[in-house]
Amino acid sequence: MPLTRIGVSGVSCLCAVSGVKMAYQALYRKWRPKTFEDVRGQEAVVRTLKNQIKTGRIGHAYLFCGTRGTGKTSVAKIFARAVNCENPVDGSPCGECASCRAIAAGTDMNVVEIDAASNNGVDNIRDIREQVRYRPTEGKYRVYIIDEVHMLSAAAFNALLKTLEEPPSYVIFILATTEIQKIPLTILSRCQRYDFHRIPTETIFEQLKSLVEKEGLAASDQALRYVARQADGSMRDALSLLDECLSYYIGKDLEYEDVLKVLGAADTAVYSAMLRELLAYRTGGALELLNKVLLSGQELPQFVSGLIWYLRNVLLVMTSADMSVTADIVDMSEDDFKRLKEDAAKAAGSGNGDRKQGVSRIIRYIELFSSLSGKLTGTTQKRVLTEVTLIRCTKPAMDAGSAEKEDAEGTDSPRAAGDTSGLAARVAALEAQTEQLQALIASLADRPAAPVSGTSAKKAPADPDSPLNFGLPDGTADAEYIIQHWDQVREYITAVQPLAGPLLDGSAVDVTVRGKSELVIDAPDSPVMEAPAFLTAPLKRIAKGVKITKELRKENSGEPAIPQPAMKVDTADHESGMV
Ligand SMILES: [Zn+2]
Repeated sequence: MPLTRIGVSGVSCLCAVSGVKMAYQALYRKWRPKTFEDVRGQEAVVRTLKNQIKTGRIGHAYLFCGTRGTGKTSVAKIFARAVNCENPVDGSPCGECASCRAIAAGTDMNVVEIDAASNNGVDNIRDIREQVRYRPTEGKYRVYIIDEVHMLSAAAFNALLKTLEEPPSYVIFILATTEIQKIPLTILSRCQRYDFHRIPTETIFEQLKSLVEKEGLAASDQALRYVARQADGSMRDALSLLDECLSYYIGKDLEYEDVLKVLGAADTAVYSAMLRELLAYRTGGALELLNKVLLSGQELPQFVSGLIWYLRNVLLVMTSADMSVTADIVDMSEDDFKRLKEDAAKAAGSGNGDRKQGVSRIIRYIELFSSLSGKLTGTTQKRVLTEVTLIRCTKPAMDAGSAEKEDAEGTDSPRAAGDTSGLAARVAALEAQTEQLQALIASLADRPAAPVSGTSAKKAPADPDSPLNFGLPDGTADAEYIIQHWDQVREYITAVQPLAGPLLDGSAVDVTVRGKSELVIDAPDSPVMEAPAFLTAPLKRIAKGVKITKELRKENSGEPAIPQPAMKVDTADHESGMV
């Protein structure tokens, strides 16, 4: 029973997408390296193998391990050709002799490829043992390339071991695997082991660029660089992704935006915008942005991993001395990099001037999103989980509840194992708010006669503080109107009291209606919050008759009061629902 040769393991994307029926060869098959010189990113492995060919010191069992798409099978094939080549050129197969041509045409019986994923039984290995009893009629070596060798059954491994123990001089085994830990030690100890490393993004990029040129196509560097990065060290993945993009835009120059569209990814501008929402503790803004991302058709897992990558770059810039990271290191265009640096500066300053706090804040985001990323596969609640993470980022106060719960498992004293990073973020948020409030109070002290009396300190002829300028009624509204037009009202308050803006944005203050003519201002129990005059005065200008009641929110935790979210989530709810 002859062994199965490996068939086509990849399907050309072009045919599938465009419906073109002509024979199209996928890029990664077409440009599969034919000599050692063509192999990219595995210099150490290639040098050693070439030396063995040149000096004739060829082993009988090789083990190629490493992640997918790093060139294991390609190198195995080149090696198989090289050992049989009549005139190897600097260790590489010449490509011209009878043996080289026969192997290339697939008519040579000396090179046998076996996919252990589908031929993993003991019988398959026994077939090999049967075959290796006979010396090859032509050529020097019979080479068996066993792909995904970790898939072999225990019995098959035992059978293989017997062959490896006493290999005929003319037989070479090349075992390839992505999971080295699944290979029995007895096999490992009989093989020369070669580790194939992830190929650097820059190397992949250079290769893509040169192939695109050879194909007579056009693609921007930014587009190719993005594809290279998405491939995560796998040349095969990079070429498949490029194939996918090129076939989607046949006859058009491939641009960065095209690649994003095909791969369902987001532009870095979106990540930057999201980070800014998080840094400003704007839950509403973050959720709104997420909604836009989803509406644009992006996939959540991809968005989250892109965001993590962006945060990683921000962190890199923040933690490098004098922010000396260059656009190359973070793999970005100059424009994107400029924005990234701005974000890094912003994040560094977000810890209330304490750079360390800013850094730990970004680390915390990365941790939260990484844990989210792990949960996103295999759940139907992708959106909910993502929203929860955004709330955890923007409402550190709420997060303490869930962190405490996680920590509580297996310990009697949850506080003892408390999440200090969450606490640090809460303190940072508090400090930022206190600062805003102090500035606010100072500004109120500066303008004692301001809006309450209706006379502007500027003495402008037309009243710039009039609600009429903002399309709001001048004193005639009722409480319900205020609530219904809250966005507009907030804009007005922010305009006449610029410092109130951040406070209202962060939902530190909650305004609700009681009856037609009473507004209840709900504020945390904090000395600086006891006189929300900044809110009362402008509100009175819109709704003269409205009664404004202050209600102080008490928290039972014994912690300082923290602003609560606009969306009402009571403690019992978020403790069970936030984990
Ligand atoms: Zn040759």
